[in-house]
Amino acid sequence: MKKVNIPLVVVTLLLTLPPPATLQARTSAVKSKSAPRAALVVTSEPEVIVNGSPCLFRVKSRRALRSLSGEWQGRSVFFNFDKQDGTWYGFAGVGVDAVSGRSRLTLEAITASGGRFTYVHPVRVELALYRTTALSVASQYTEPDPETLARIEEEQELKKEAFAHVIPYRLWSGNFEVPVDSRTTGDFGTRRTFNHKVQSVHQGLDFRAETGTPVGAMNSGLVILAREMFYEGGFVVIDHGQGLSTLYMHLSEINVREGDSVEKRQIIGLSGGTGRATAPHLHIGVRWQGIYLDPAVLLTLPLP
Ligand SMILES: [Zn+2]
Repeated sequence: MKKVNIPLVVVTLLLTLPPPATLQARTSAVKSKSAPRAALVVTSEPEVIVNGSPCLFRVKSRRALRSLSGEWQGRSVFFNFDKQDGTWYGFAGVGVDAVSGRSRLTLEAITASGGRFTYVHPVRVELALYRTTALSVASQYTEPDPETLARIEEEQELKKEAFAHVIPYRLWSGNFEVPVDSRTTGDFGTRRTFNHKVQSVHQGLDFRAETGTPVGAMNSGLVILAREMFYEGGFVVIDHGQGLSTLYMHLSEINVREGDSVEKRQIIGLSGGTGRATAPHLHIGVRWQGIYLDPAVLLTLPLP
């Protein structure tokens, strides 16, 4: 019970700074040394960040800020201001291959009067335990012939181009929503072996969905890919801005075109079992600045 009452920021500090005895001393030292440094309070959701997890950083500032930007593990964190609760919030995430340990979220703030200051917030990354599983698919997916290999390469190039362009502003608003009203059947992060040969990490979340189930956009955004691909089958990618996209695979029908703007819950296609799928289902992926994140966690984040 006692633990529940500890403010989020203290929990974060306890995770990152070793003995509690030094905590008091370090906190007060920082406060007296530089006033602006103590002027930011950073919390994260989820509190414990694991490899493969998306997260939301919330920053409260005592002084009015004109802008706030961040850098974490080599990636930019875009911050937006929520006027309702006076909080800056930034979406970020950790790749599934990340190692556990300490990292630094570096924040650059510009105050309303034009002053600048930097604030470093320690973030601890823990290791998640992901399962291992074996699957069987048609041999063309594990031993593609030269013609198929050429197609795969071509499609990789297409995806690279589509993902290279970053929309600097935010197209999403509020929580991300499930694309189909159904239970999940395959978790993110599972290490899978296809036909005892090809090993890969499951970089998304599977939903039970019979062929023909309408699939809704998880949030508003811009369609950057909408086509048939070898592994993905009927494939739609929605760019939500600031480096965040959602991916929908194995569709039997696609109802949007590349370049379309879509609203949250808009039907973008019908589910199916096209591409490298063992049976009809809906696979969704969440991509943020080149890394894949756990969609199940994104769906739980309370976003402004
Ligand atoms: Zn999947």
